[in-house]
Amino acid sequence: MSASGKCLCGAVRFSAESVETHIHSCHCSMCRSWTSGPMFGVAAQGVQFDGEEHIGRYVSSEWAERGFCKQCGSSLFYRMKEPEQYILAMGAFDDAEQFKLTGEIYIDEKPGGYDFAGDHPRLTGAEFLASLAGSQ
Ligand SMILES: [Zn+2]
Ligand SMILES: [Zn+2]
Repeated sequence: MSASGKCLCGAVRFSAESVETHIHSCHCSMCRSWTSGPMFGVAAQGVQFDGEEHIGRYVSSEWAERGFCKQCGSSLFYRMKEPEQYILAMGAFDDAEQFKLTGEIYIDEKPGGYDFAGDHPRLTGAEFLASLAGSQ
């Protein structure tokens, strides 16, 4: 499905042609620092931005960067460089009602003080990385 969204202040808007309805939540320490909680990510293709000049890009690893609004600080996306893949922040979508949590990753880095309900896969960081290697 296609979908649109924006940052908190509205300086950055985006649209995406093909957006998955599955949410993956990442509990890794980097995502938690970046979003103040687990990241809720949605894979998308055909992503276009309005207000590109307001997007800050933080190179968080050799293979990925994280985009945010320079005015309001909203977390907007995680972008894998090669092959390019956008993971958009669920909270930035205009309508988040269509998304459903279907998996958690880096469960081994999750603090003990919260848990998500639901019967879905929960992968450790090592299991997640192994799953990526297996799919390529
Ligand atoms: Zn903003
Ligand atoms: Zn993470």
